[in-house]
Amino acid sequence: MPGQWHGPAPDHPQPARSSRDNKLLASIEAVAAQALRRNMHRMSLQRGQTLIEAEGPLTRIWFPESCVVSLSIRMENGSSPEVAAIGPEGAVGHDALLGLERSLIQASVQVPGDALCIGTRELFASAEQNPSLRMALWHNLAVIHAQTMQLAACYALHPARARLARFLLMTQDRTGGAAVHLTQELLAELLGVQRTTVTAAALVLMEQGLILYHRGRIDICDRPGLEAAACECYRAIRQLVLPVSHSRSSDSRRLRDCIGF
Ligand SMILES: [Zn+2]
Repeated sequence: MPGQWHGPAPDHPQPARSSRDNKLLASIEAVAAQALRRNMHRMSLQRGQTLIEAEGPLTRIWFPESCVVSLSIRMENGSSPEVAAIGPEGAVGHDALLGLERSLIQASVQVPGDALCIGTRELFASAEQNPSLRMALWHNLAVIHAQTMQLAACYALHPARARLARFLLMTQDRTGGAAVHLTQELLAELLGVQRTTVTAAALVLMEQGLILYHRGRIDICDRPGLEAAACECYRAIRQLVLPVSHSRSSDSRRLRDCIGF
């Protein structure tokens, strides 16, 4: 029955989004975006699909439209806590811009959905011609870096319940869906805690009337309440991720000065 926290969770499809656009691509000049899209193809990505292996080659870049991708670090005990997540606001795999040929992290699909994909060489050739694309890619790398630092502090300081609330809110923000579909096992893996810890945290949120959980489906019943229960990292990451303001912000000018555009 709804409200219980037990049982295996089926792999529910995520509700379709009304907009298929990737916000990073939408933020660049129309002519550049049009030229870029000629070399892209749309992929339907499945939950758990690995896009980039740790130490694997960086040969392709994905622009999520309706999926969410987790960046994680593989630990010696086999766990893979999430160090950043990327949805329709950004891109995955463009750390090749930093001169890396192989990835430092693993990228796996957390929420299934569509993404536009392009080869690294083709993307960088386009970026050579288009300052707005270069700027958007660099800006998104800076956002991912800042998100990673925020999550490092989150893991060190904030309790599992507040981190779970932060995670659920960010996932819903990125997907726009009415519910979040994730198994207890995957939630525990992404949050870097034991399954019993995530179960206990979710039960408290349910007792407070903030969420409902049933067989892998988590409904947010009281969003203001869940925001109040989340750690400060939710607001910090939301502020970083949601506004695509690199074309006009003073931060953007500073970044441009640093990287020589
Ligand atoms: Zn936190």
